[in-house]
Amino acid sequence: MPVGRYAPSPTGSLHLGNLRTALVAWLAARVDGSAFLLRSEDLDPASRPEHEAAQQADLAALGLDWDGPVVRQSERRDLYEDAIGRLTTAGLTYPCFCTRREIQDATRAPHGVAPDGAYPGTCRALTHADRAVHQATGRPPALRLRGGAARVEVVDALAGRVSGLVDDVVLRRNDGLPAYNLVVVVDDAAQGVGEVVRGDDLLGSTPRQVHLARRLGLSVPTYLHVPLVLGPDGARLAKRHGAATLAKLGGDEVRALLSRSLGLAAEGEPTDLPTLLGRFSRDRLPREPWVLRDLGPG
Ligand code: GLU
Repeated sequence: MPVGRYAPSPTGSLHLGNLRTALVAWLAARVDGSAFLLRSEDLDPASRPEHEAAQQADLAALGLDWDGPVVRQSERRDLYEDAIGRLTTAGLTYPCFCTRREIQDATRAPHGVAPDGAYPGTCRALTHADRAVHQATGRPPALRLRGGAARVEVVDALAGRVSGLVDDVVLRRNDGLPAYNLVVVVDDAAQGVGEVVRGDDLLGSTPRQVHLARRLGLSVPTYLHVPLVLGPDGARLAKRHGAATLAKLGGDEVRALLSRSLGLAAEGEPTDLPTLLGRFSRDRLPREPWVLRDLGPG
């Protein structure tokens, strides 16, 4: 059976943009008769069980359901370490001792073909002796992938062809936590996810995720990145634009608002989930950000 998913980080409440993406992810899965999984990306130290519970309550308030128990990344560390081990055995990783500051300074200097903000490769060719010097300082290293500046093209259902250079992405942070780009690839493959639906702030990371999946011999899903929601000032939405709106308007009203923003209903038309499923088509989703005009203070 095909599988879709929604994978929020429980670091706060879901804002309207998150809820809108969740609605699209649910519709895309259910319109195909796919399973729909909820995954809690709770490796971030700012994750809290109460945020996870509130996020689930907010999704349920919209009428969204999911199959099986919620999977928590914090309970799957072995899986991620196994993937890191395989990349390391293949000679595709190296320890990186750089501080954030050092990386910032180094990326300000021109460095040829690497993508903007990419790691400039300072630690890529350290000798054993260099490493020993760093290790002696006691500061634990991060672990990076040898990305080889591969160019990877992704075809997104809404954004079309997106091509990106794969930098030496972090696999394990220097606090020991496996990094987002790795865990998302491992989990989507392990859970059999066929289509990834998420906010388009992650579109730029997709080529490196596809590269990682290929390096690990894992299946590569298809992608649909939903354009973000912007506040009236054109800035990205704050978390408060969601929970407060739900509390104020209720789940049915918020689903109606989101449905209209997705072109699935006109003012006054029904927006129950069966009706939305009857109208949903990936091709007709808006490709521009949704600018909220008059939500007031949330
Ligand atoms: N956990 C990520 C977020 O909340 C989403 C990751 C994904 O869908 O790939 O932004």
